[in-house]
Amino acid sequence: MGEVKVLEGKDLTRIERIGAHSHIRGLGLDDALEARKNSQGMVGQRSARKAAGVILQMIKDGKIAGRAVLLAGQPGTGKTAIAMGMAKALGEEAPFAMMAGSEIFSLEMSKTEALTQAFRKAIGVRIKEETEIIEGEVVEVSIDKPASSGAASKTGKLTLKTTEMETVYDLGSKMIENLNKEKIQSGDIVTIDKASGKITKLGRSFARSRDYDAMGPQTKFVQCPEGELQKRKEVVHVVSLHEIDVINSRSQGFLALFAGDTGEIRPEVREQIDGKVAEWREEGKADIVPGVLFIDEVHMLDIECFSFLNRALEQDMAPILVVATNRGITRIRGTNYKSPHGIPIDLLDRLLIITTQPYSEEEIRQILDIRCEEEDVEMTDEARDLLTKIGHETSLRYAIHLITAASLASLKRKAREVDIEDISRVYSMFVDVKRSTQFLMEYQEQFMFNEIAEPDQDDS
Ligand code: ATP
Repeated sequence: MGEVKVLEGKDLTRIERIGAHSHIRGLGLDDALEARKNSQGMVGQRSARKAAGVILQMIKDGKIAGRAVLLAGQPGTGKTAIAMGMAKALGEEAPFAMMAGSEIFSLEMSKTEALTQAFRKAIGVRIKEETEIIEGEVVEVSIDKPASSGAASKTGKLTLKTTEMETVYDLGSKMIENLNKEKIQSGDIVTIDKASGKITKLGRSFARSRDYDAMGPQTKFVQCPEGELQKRKEVVHVVSLHEIDVINSRSQGFLALFAGDTGEIRPEVREQIDGKVAEWREEGKADIVPGVLFIDEVHMLDIECFSFLNRALEQDMAPILVVATNRGITRIRGTNYKSPHGIPIDLLDRLLIITTQPYSEEEIRQILDIRCEEEDVEMTDEARDLLTKIGHETSLRYAIHLITAASLASLKRKAREVDIEDISRVYSMFVDVKRSTQFLMEYQEQFMFNEIAEPDQDDS
């Protein structure tokens, strides 16, 4: 691997659908980092949002690296929403990678490889490319065609000589079409992008105007040089370390980025890339942009993964790790020990812990309003009241799910708005967890594997 290849980040198009968190556009904080009541799609959870904002500020100021944050709270209290808000507030440049703890066990690669890839997806490399823009007067335009070829022949060479540089083009190339179109000739003031070779005409020509194809062999126009100037332009793009890995991994190639099926990447490839990036940093050609790696359901990781995280956070290019869990004191996977959130104490000790609280009825109503708007669903006030009550008594998630279902029910009866009857209909059609549990309690002997788990056992 002689040259390390990079791909511009914007080449990777991401499709956005109306997802569970598509209404979140930031953390909704003011300049003093206080959480606004209802802003950027965010409602309530104000102290957690403020704490997340303070951490973001530290990230932006470059004050923290290799730090980790734990969002702990009951299900549906907005932990993922806050992580998404952080990502949005970080801006376009900083990469945000997201995974669920359980993904580690389902991918066709080792656990540590999956985590390494996730870490490298969250580390951006800002590459600065200096392209030199030459501005100068065209001193000479000459066409060198074989004598035998006719005037309209597309073979031969064209030399464009300015006060700064001499460029030779193949006749018939795109560049020539451009030259013909712009009718560039001696005496013109042009800019040439040294990297791409693109020529742009600035001043008006005062010499003869002719098509180059019509010129005979060895035609030369020469004018005196005057007023030359060099400009440098910086082109910056950010790619993740993982993207650079994949593009340079011989067995994968960059198409794997689109398929998402990147497989394992050989350690030698990563070593070479790290070396190259270090070189670029020394030469001032690149900077590291630490992003955020969000691991939801972190209690699903096992002891090996936790020790990997401990180690990975110590590397100098580490991203900010944000993990979330809704577990209390539970067993650490892969051990017989119990620990708060199922996370070993040594890792817990490194985490800044942000807790989330259950929502009030008013906050649930506001979140449901935002979701109705996001899903383009019209709803009567009475239906909103009922849905809010359902959300308060069951769960916010369940109430959010009912929005689309109720909208379909209202469409079926050709109504423009969702009304109480639609909400009641879908409420009886889809049961929430409480009713489902009640049903199981009553009829459990009719189900398979109907033993209730021992209190000590959990989901490993
Ligand atoms: P779990 O522990 O089950 O993973 P969670 O704490 O991650 O739950 P979310 O998935 O973030 O909860 O929240 C459930 C839904 O409510 C999502 O659609 C989320 O976008 C929305 N939501 C949660 N909190 C807020 C909030 N403060 N403002 C706006 N929307 C929110």
